[in-house]
Amino acid sequence: MRSKVNPEIGHNPRLPRNHRSLHADSARTPAFSTHLPAPAGEHEHVHRSLQRPLRIMKFGGTSVADASCMQRVAEIIHTAARESDLVVVISAMSGVTNKLIEAALQSESGNREAVAQVFSQLRAQHGAALTSLIQSDTRRNRIGQQMQELFREGERLCEGTCLLHELTPRARDAISSLGERLSAPMVAAVLEQGGLASQCIEATELIVTDSYYGGAEPWMDLTRERSSARLQPLIEQGIVPVVTGFIGASEEGVLTTLGRGGSDYSATILGTALDADEVIIWTDVDGLLTADPRLVQDACLISEISYREAAELAYFGAKVLHPKSLQPVMQRGIPLRIRNTFAPEKLGTKITPVGCTDTGGVTALAALTDAAMITIGGPGLLGVQDVLGRTFATTVAIRATVLLIAQSSSQNDICLVVSSSHAKRTLEELRHEFSHDLSHETLEHITLDSTVAIVSVVGHKVRGMSGVAGRIFAALGRENVDVIAMAHGASASNISFVVAKKDVRAALLAAHREFQLGEQVSPTFPVSSSDAPWAYQPERTGSNPD
Ligand code: ADP
Ligand code: ASP
Ligand code: MG
Repeated sequence: MRSKVNPEIGHNPRLPRNHRSLHADSARTPAFSTHLPAPAGEHEHVHRSLQRPLRIMKFGGTSVADASCMQRVAEIIHTAARESDLVVVISAMSGVTNKLIEAALQSESGNREAVAQVFSQLRAQHGAALTSLIQSDTRRNRIGQQMQELFREGERLCEGTCLLHELTPRARDAISSLGERLSAPMVAAVLEQGGLASQCIEATELIVTDSYYGGAEPWMDLTRERSSARLQPLIEQGIVPVVTGFIGASEEGVLTTLGRGGSDYSATILGTALDADEVIIWTDVDGLLTADPRLVQDACLISEISYREAAELAYFGAKVLHPKSLQPVMQRGIPLRIRNTFAPEKLGTKITPVGCTDTGGVTALAALTDAAMITIGGPGLLGVQDVLGRTFATTVAIRATVLLIAQSSSQNDICLVVSSSHAKRTLEELRHEFSHDLSHETLEHITLDSTVAIVSVVGHKVRGMSGVAGRIFAALGRENVDVIAMAHGASASNISFVVAKKDVRAALLAAHREFQLGEQVSPTFPVSSSDAPWAYQPERTGSNPD
């Protein structure tokens, strides 16, 4: 556990003696104002006490989409810093990572004009935000120069890719990482401008990963060592570290990314590495909802949910959370909250080890449209040696996760669902692995169907509840939605079924209605209330396995 103030001397020995207390000074200190920057050199170093929790607060792309969003983020951080020690994790401005990947792909095709156009758009977007955010010429010029250096770095990487006509995974990561490296310094600068001591830190200094570009995995021991060594001293001095989300670095120091949407994962990795009291994912919706609100309009807020259920939802398509983001915090019992940057008075969703067990049934739905189904089949399948073992060995070798697997009762067919991005490669590798069986016709076919999606029904112990699967089939049947395959029983809290992509919305609406998920009420909280989620609640809801 993190060290706290020594009560014997009433002062943290690691804090400077002249350390200022925000609370002690609050009568004199003007409330944070976006228009009133603190006098130069004057910073509210945050007060630390026995009861001061450490919170990791991650802000997603829409939360930092432009200057006014960044101001709002700064206000949330400033308010939270009155009660908590903070580490902030920042995503790229909305749409920026997509544009960078577009530039990377255009460079591979040698399209220099398109690359130049992307960089000119990005310069304009970031320049506009910087100009309206930062009033001090010196501070603005300093950040502006850093940004120009990053743009030049990106352009050089794209030029190298143009020359080679090859986009290596390493270059793709380096190019797509620029968004976070551009946005985080702006947020740190706006905090400083508002009088909160802050420092931008690149996560390459903190998160140590393997070298699997585009989806790197953290090495937690090294990450823990580096993060504590780099961040604890700042926290203890009352400085808020603002960390670039999405990225890490291999042990050799080469930049890696954690996969699309990976800033959530950065936050939970850092939360675990620093043994934080809570991780808060600030986004553009009220929390985790009973279904994707873009598809189901009356989706409702879930006020509390278990790690297990939230992990199932994230894994099966609830974009609000990166699929792996629950893994680190689950191991340590650290609560995770999802909250709305644009409605900070709302409580959001709290994700805890046990969740809310009295919901009685289905908690929420998720849909994964980025999926494809591979079918291995033929009457001779039963005679093919170790089909499942060889299938899994093949998918593991190319790191393609099998999202769902089903076998026909006659054992003539096996179908597995993988993400669309892995589908073609998985098909090729399986055809290679079973080439002998295909040529001797013990296997008839290995085929790919890219028109499918997975819909998941998630709930506490949904497996053990009688009639759930029947109700799903009946509800879908009424909407003429065919169930192509189904996985029921592997997970206690999830029933997943495969439908045609075109039927996803109808399937979600039917299941949402069937399980009456649209009838819950979202609680609200005043921002300043001591019961607000950032007010410290010392007990953890779950066990810490350590
Ligand atoms: P951020 O930029 O903050 O990381 P994302 O776009 O990655 O935000 O995730 C938030 C979005 O996830 C929401 O705007 C919503 O459209 C989508 N979403 C999908 N499923 C759910 C769900 N079950 N609950 C909440 N949001 C969901
Ligand atoms: N900027 C990255 C992405 O768009 C990571 C994130 O936003 O979480 O995928
Ligand atoms: Mg996201």
